[in-house]
Amino acid sequence: MKHNNSEKIFKTAQEKMPGGVNSPVRAFQNVGVNPPFIKRADKAYVYDEDDNKYLDFISSWGPMILGHNHPLLRDSLNEASVLGLSYGLPTKIEVELADLMIDAYPGLEMVRMVNSGTEATMSAIRVARGATNRDKIIKFEGNYHGHNDSLLVSSGSGMLTYNVPTSPGVPNDIIKNTLVCEYNNLASVEKCIEKYPDEIAAIIVEPIAGNMGLVKGSDEFLSGLRRLCDENGILLIFDEVISGFRASYQGSTAINHITPDLACFGKIIGGGMPIGAYGGKKAIMEQVAPAGPIYQAGTLSGNPLAMHVGKTMLTYLRDHPEVYDDLETKGAYLVENLETIIKEFNLPIQINRCGSLMTIFFNDKAVNYFKDVQNCDFKAYEQFFKLMYERNILLSPSQYECLFLNIMHTKDDLDYFIKAFKESVMEIYHVS
Ligand code: PLP
Repeated sequence: MKHNNSEKIFKTAQEKMPGGVNSPVRAFQNVGVNPPFIKRADKAYVYDEDDNKYLDFISSWGPMILGHNHPLLRDSLNEASVLGLSYGLPTKIEVELADLMIDAYPGLEMVRMVNSGTEATMSAIRVARGATNRDKIIKFEGNYHGHNDSLLVSSGSGMLTYNVPTSPGVPNDIIKNTLVCEYNNLASVEKCIEKYPDEIAAIIVEPIAGNMGLVKGSDEFLSGLRRLCDENGILLIFDEVISGFRASYQGSTAINHITPDLACFGKIIGGGMPIGAYGGKKAIMEQVAPAGPIYQAGTLSGNPLAMHVGKTMLTYLRDHPEVYDDLETKGAYLVENLETIIKEFNLPIQINRCGSLMTIFFNDKAVNYFKDVQNCDFKAYEQFFKLMYERNILLSPSQYECLFLNIMHTKDDLDYFIKAFKESVMEIYHVS
């Protein structure tokens, strides 16, 4: 496979943009290869500037549930574009998309559109703080909620004693209000609430974590969070930026049967257009400006192109529940076959899956906690990524990410993946 054009572009890109990219993961630094520069995408495939064709399991990090370049979404965008690109004024289509979301997601009574998942979580945190008149929030190590100052935090060595920013430029003064607990460990949250009674505004959590690889929040953990929030006047925020309208049409809630107070959405609700949204109970959302005093705004929020494509996407998903059955069948088929290979050679590999989301962990033990993810064999993942890449399969370039199936993955595509997986792991572990 030649990468001459991508290499050339990457070289120039590194002169013009930090790391040559507009979002760090795209630089493929964790897997030690230079990124392919993508020219176009169609169905289950992306094509780079050297005309290499890759079977894509990144799916734009989630939104391309219907595969790339779906005619319905493309037509929707084309139709919307002749009506003007942005007005900065209210439109009917915003109300229609909000209505679809409210109908789908339990407890969602009002929605505010924004432009990204980061904006959604940042705004939901502000609303929770404003509504409770409290400053502290709890987040979980290994969960990612975008690049807001108050959420770029990890626990220092003594959990609950001090936190550390995960980026320079994040003031200690801001993160002193962020408490970091262990995902899937309710006792760590109980301790935290005991230490700061009446000070915690919100718990923000990925109910199905997708940013430490795929790790589902356990039933006991999530129902415990709901109970603790109810008992202590804390708002529960589900970050469904990855799981919303993907894990099911109702996001994670069809799986955990828990209703959060606020929920955050992103990419998927725009079918690939730049978008985000947050919402929740009316009593809380009515405190957002201009209905209430908590300020939050955006020039391009509710952009008509994103709204049109989002409406088309959600309407299709609502009217075609078989999409989720299809993704479940494909996910189950893939994992069943990969697990047969893992067993055959007794390999130290675990697979976590929830519908169309999955992660192949290079670990000999079950992966349920962030520390389990940290104990994975990252070198093996890097080797695996490269071997699959040589076979024209594009995986997420990090052990900390998910693979995303879409409905355009055919049985032949999955069989090709299974064969490539077998060849790759046999090479990594020298088994025959
Ligand atoms: N929340 C979660 C769970 C995410 O996975 C992401 C991004 O992947 C975000 C928030 C931030 O979204 P965005 O990249 O659109 O700002």
